[in-house]
Amino acid sequence: MCGIVGFLGKRNASEVLVEGLSKLEYRGYDSAGVAILNHGDINVKKCKGRLRNLEEKLNVEPLEGNLGIGHTRWATHGEPSDVNSHPHCNGNETVSVVHNGIIENYLSIKEWLTSKGYEFLSDTDTEVIPNLVDYYYEGDLIDAVIKATRKMEGSYAIGVISEKEPDKIVAVRKDSPLIVGVGEDEYFIASDIPAVLNHTRNVYLLEDKEFVIMTRQGIKLVNEEKEEIKKEIYKVTWNADAAEKGGFEDFTIKEIHEQPKAVKDTMTSRIVEGEKIKLDKISLTKEHLDNIDKVYIVACGTAYHAGVVGKYVIEKLAGIPVEIDVASEFRYREPLMNDRTLLIVVSQSGETADTLAVLRDGKKKGCRVLAVTNVVGSSVSREAHDVLYTWAGPEIAVASTKAYVTQLIAMYTLALHLASLKEKLTVEDIEEIKKEMLELPKKIEKVIENKEEIQKFASKHYMERDMFFLGRGLDYAIAMEASLKLKELTYIHSEAYPGGELKHGPIALIEKGTVVISSLTQTALRDKMVSNIQEVATRGARVMAIAYEGDTEVEKSVEAVIYIPRTLDLLAPVLAIIPMQLLAYYTAVQKGLDVDKPRNLAKSVTVE
Ligand code: GLU
Repeated sequence: MCGIVGFLGKRNASEVLVEGLSKLEYRGYDSAGVAILNHGDINVKKCKGRLRNLEEKLNVEPLEGNLGIGHTRWATHGEPSDVNSHPHCNGNETVSVVHNGIIENYLSIKEWLTSKGYEFLSDTDTEVIPNLVDYYYEGDLIDAVIKATRKMEGSYAIGVISEKEPDKIVAVRKDSPLIVGVGEDEYFIASDIPAVLNHTRNVYLLEDKEFVIMTRQGIKLVNEEKEEIKKEIYKVTWNADAAEKGGFEDFTIKEIHEQPKAVKDTMTSRIVEGEKIKLDKISLTKEHLDNIDKVYIVACGTAYHAGVVGKYVIEKLAGIPVEIDVASEFRYREPLMNDRTLLIVVSQSGETADTLAVLRDGKKKGCRVLAVTNVVGSSVSREAHDVLYTWAGPEIAVASTKAYVTQLIAMYTLALHLASLKEKLTVEDIEEIKKEMLELPKKIEKVIENKEEIQKFASKHYMERDMFFLGRGLDYAIAMEASLKLKELTYIHSEAYPGGELKHGPIALIEKGTVVISSLTQTALRDKMVSNIQEVATRGARVMAIAYEGDTEVEKSVEAVIYIPRTLDLLAPVLAIIPMQLLAYYTAVQKGLDVDKPRNLAKSVTVE
């Protein structure tokens, strides 16, 4: 995820572009850049870090010209650095491109272009695009861009400029957003509407594979066959603030809604039906794994809870014993790590202080270290031997939602990879799990559609002092995360317990009116969990259950049931956590709290 903008008009382009990018920083902020065409020459300024670094650079060395493209990046391929920042150019800098998305087949394109004499400077997937456009250029930029996109697989929104046609911007999208702004004698492209709202409220909302040809004469939209597309102008009626949040009230609910896409992106090019799992940053081999007799998963907070799910699934699928611990405890308990240990660290930001300390200690003791993180080029990604990136895009809300579900996807992907290296599962078994994983984005959408049911429950119970989350097996793993979400967002005291522990103490706390939330997705444990629900209901608890569609029997003992689509029990956490995130969210909203920035909390904990 990142933000792109383009401008063609009479004003100074770099100023308009930087102002537009400032409205898109929520889409990415690890580097920024602009490319401006002036008297037929492309000039690029780009650098690592927040947009203000670029602004400072431009203050010192301003760029003239009134046509250009700009980018604020959230790296997926290649760490954040000056050279990996966008815009990217071909070798002789005649073509410049900004890109949002992932070119899945960039390695094979790179190889092919290299054999034709092209050279590459960066580690990005994006750099193949300007070179493809250069390769196909035969006198018409739009033809070259169309040909280039025919070669590209994956997702993209791109803006392209060329010295050979200095009064033109060509743009197109596929599976990444892009809009066109139509002002008075000036035109824009942007990843999102806020970037243009200071200049115009007239926009075209583009569909996939609609090409934009922007010149001083106006805007032409064409399809792949270059046939003109007629499109209605969409008039924006809302204000920029709301738009940055995509029309949502706050980033938390926006990010909850982004989960289907985040899950889909994290599986992109890795989980493909009929193909082996591809994990390009993991070089752990069967030989390494044969010498490993224990896995530790170590993390903090929400990432720790993703690790708990990881423990269940790696043990089940790959048959390797897994121990899970919180980093701040693990690092001081003289853990028994050695060269027969695989250490998996999980950190959204990749900078979590305790987790990083564990990683370093593990490396000293000879462990193989694998990091799961959302931030390309972060400390854990640089220091670990193997990396599995979650592609959730930037998470702005402090309490994690979409990063967590993508960490779950990372755990499944990893478990399948380890299982196939160890030959623990048949190809058919692996295919079945992959097929179900690929269904998850659609099913998450279905769960989110049901949000009003949860909102109703929240509006009845938002004044509670305590809530309890009960579960067994993987339902217990998500109960812990649900309980944390509730604490973080609502400040309501909550506890998560394994159903079987109830009688060992916590049942003493159940009284008339106590709210208990429980999911029932683990078929083998379902009846036992139903008994636990009855035990608390008998003592006056008001229960919200989360059950598979069709499991209506549970309705008898509870106040509300939220149904989720059926999936493999193993994958159910990805669906069952969603109603619990929504419960925490709506409860906080009812209480009038600042959901995006809960009190006392920070997004990434880089101190002990
Ligand atoms: N894949 C590109 C990069 O890593 C674009 C990033 C994005 O859109 O998130 O530079």
